[in-house]
Amino acid sequence: MSKHFMEVKSLQKHFPIFGGIFSRPVAWVKAVDGVSFFLKEGETLGLVGESGCGKSTTGRTILRLLEPSGGSVEFMGRDLVTLDRAEMRSMRRNMQMIFQDPYASLNPRMTVGSIIEEPLVIHSIGTKVERRKKVLSLLAEVGLREEHAARYPHEFSGGQRQRIGIARALAIEPRLIVADEPVSALDVSIQAQVINLLQELQERHKLTYLFVAHNLSVVEHISDRVAVMYLGKIVEIADSRKLYAEPKHPYTRALLSAVPIPDPDIKPKRIILEGDVPSPIKAPTGCRFHPRCPVANADPTRLAKCRSEDPPLVDLGGEHFTACHYVPEADQIFGITRHRQPGQS
Ligand code: SF4
Repeated sequence: MSKHFMEVKSLQKHFPIFGGIFSRPVAWVKAVDGVSFFLKEGETLGLVGESGCGKSTTGRTILRLLEPSGGSVEFMGRDLVTLDRAEMRSMRRNMQMIFQDPYASLNPRMTVGSIIEEPLVIHSIGTKVERRKKVLSLLAEVGLREEHAARYPHEFSGGQRQRIGIARALAIEPRLIVADEPVSALDVSIQAQVINLLQELQERHKLTYLFVAHNLSVVEHISDRVAVMYLGKIVEIADSRKLYAEPKHPYTRALLSAVPIPDPDIKPKRIILEGDVPSPIKAPTGCRFHPRCPVANADPTRLAKCRSEDPPLVDLGGEHFTACHYVPEADQIFGITRHRQPGQS
């Protein structure tokens, strides 16, 4: 059994594409294709990648809001993938999700008080009076007022709606929260407030977060470790400081080179990637990044290997994992890039 708080192994989520006169599956979208990582108790793991890379699908599949096509998710001594409906329902008390679009995820016909109370009702927790008390204390915790309980979601701003979503997720006192792009739809000034709130709540309630985002600068401040996804696979995972200071995978280097740094003395060279992210219906062979990878495309021998062999995720030391055949060559090409000095924000 896993020694970690949660261990995800070889997770897959493939969606069929139906076609022909019999509407049979004619192709598969391999949105998540063999994702493995672990979560430590009380940490925040940022899961980052461009849109369509499978990061949100990974979060939803872990919670079984989408049924996995393969792999395992070990949590609290059980493999979530093997649980039946009733077992999964009771396990959900420990795992909640915060969604990107707080408006779409809140029922417009329910008052805010009923929205926050609903998970307590579903899990038969407390009497009506106790639940009411809990709702009021949750509102206060997320920075809203008592009278807000009687109002409806449309009466709130985007940031306030996300606070309501957070209060709802906290209601049943989960241990793990999957936050799916929780600040992407918010103004930059509000993003920082919501991130600070999530950090305070994490400390107070000893929460573990899987924080999904498409932007490396958003996850930097909240994450203890960061995992980078590309086309259904994780290509790099490391301690946050290490990943920002010394990225090893060419894709991570390219993503980071586009993040502005507020220090005139550090001028990372912008790495421009050729082409768009390929379709997950017809993912490239070998390393999926090879058609866009500057390291592979600089040398025909490398390109041949990258085209035919899928690199495994290997620990380079100190739990810095990366999936690339040519890390030393990448260091030579890009230099040992220090995108951030340790501790620099
Ligand atoms: Fe680039 Fe090859 Fe490394 Fe993939 S394995 S990232 S294609 S060098």
